[in-house]
Amino acid sequence: MTNLETPDIKNIENGDFRYLLRGQLKSLKDNLQFRKRVVCDPLCKTDTVEIERYPSSAEVIIDGRKMINFASNDYLGLTSHPLITEALKEGIKLYGAGTGASALVTGHTTAHAKLEEYLKELTGKEKVLLLNSGFAANQALIKAHLSLGANLILDRLVHASMQQALFNGKNFYRYEHNNLKKAERLLQKYENTSIFTEGVFSMDGDSPDLQQLVSLVRKYHSYLVLDDAHGFGACGISGQGTPAKQGVSFSDIDIYMATLSKACGLCGAFIAADGDFIDYLVNTSKEYIYSTSAPAYIAHGLLTSLKIINGEEGNALRKHLNELTDYFRKEARNLPGNVILLPSSTSIQPLIIGDNKRLMEISVFLKSKGILCGAIRPPTVPAGTARLRITITAAHDRNDITRLLQTLYDAFNSIT
Ligand SMILES: *Cc1c(COP(=O)(O)O)cnc(C)c1O
Repeated sequence: MTNLETPDIKNIENGDFRYLLRGQLKSLKDNLQFRKRVVCDPLCKTDTVEIERYPSSAEVIIDGRKMINFASNDYLGLTSHPLITEALKEGIKLYGAGTGASALVTGHTTAHAKLEEYLKELTGKEKVLLLNSGFAANQALIKAHLSLGANLILDRLVHASMQQALFNGKNFYRYEHNNLKKAERLLQKYENTSIFTEGVFSMDGDSPDLQQLVSLVRKYHSYLVLDDAHGFGACGISGQGTPAKQGVSFSDIDIYMATLSKACGLCGAFIAADGDFIDYLVNTSKEYIYSTSAPAYIAHGLLTSLKIINGEEGNALRKHLNELTDYFRKEARNLPGNVILLPSSTSIQPLIIGDNKRLMEISVFLKSKGILCGAIRPPTVPAGTARLRITITAAHDRNDITRLLQTLYDAFNSIT
């Protein structure tokens, strides 16, 4: 009897898609690019919150080992905030578990409407739309522009969620990272353009000069789309993100998009724009129309998260985060071993190692000493720029940073 469920892998021939599949996996492994998941649970940090302890992203447990986590995007440490956890419980009491339908059917609750209203007030935009993820929001944004026949001009390093959607179209042009002179050349060459860039670049931690970009956009009657996934909540007055940090008003950013999954500590994303653009998305975006809306309790919890972010406590968390980042940068300049610290003033602090093999050896060493950092390799970053992506969060303390620096010192000294 032949077993249809477990084909004889050895006998798969060229021409069968599984032959190609095995070849691709082998080549990923050969290039040290093969990815695997690990089970990683947050731990209760012992010296924080007195009232009730919640697991913090600053310390995690992997394979039974405790590690300090420098790989998360929980910039303000809000994933462990007791008030947000309470709000989530309250949200379940008010709205139940799931929404059971997409937003255009019966999945748009009072909690979703209130959250959109809050973000509308905050950004001063005509309308705000919630999406289930930043990935979905960027797909929707790019596809809308392509379907409207715009010429898209993008920073070469924009997030994969934008790059991915581009391949449905032809009219897109990319400029060298943060090089606004190159962007201007494209603006001179094409009409009916939209510029796509990020507030804080996820793998480099740097930012474009937004004041300069805004004047370019006005000069050429272009349209500016900003993905502020790593800026919103984490920087700027009241956590209003990169525009606020650089003294640019939301009214100068035509479309402002941010995730609610990073500094906000939960999940989802929003797009703030003029009313017509949001109406167009509601009516045409497949990501919006054909996906069940996120549970209402998430929206309810996000309202609490945003109030913390925009208030006094948010200011204190950002101040603490900036102090830790400054301390790290000051000390990291003295690290041995030919590594390059990128010029980032945000809590994303990449150290360029270059070679995949050396990066992986360093990463294994750090893990063995209880330090977890992102080990980012091509194709996520350009070839030859494999890096440690260190993210500092407000859930860390000074001792955590001292331990990180000491361990990096040992790693770079012993692995050359
Ligand atoms: C994380 C990220 C996204 C995707 O957001 P999710 O909510 O995680 O899907 C989009 N853009 C940038 C720049 C990001 O870093």
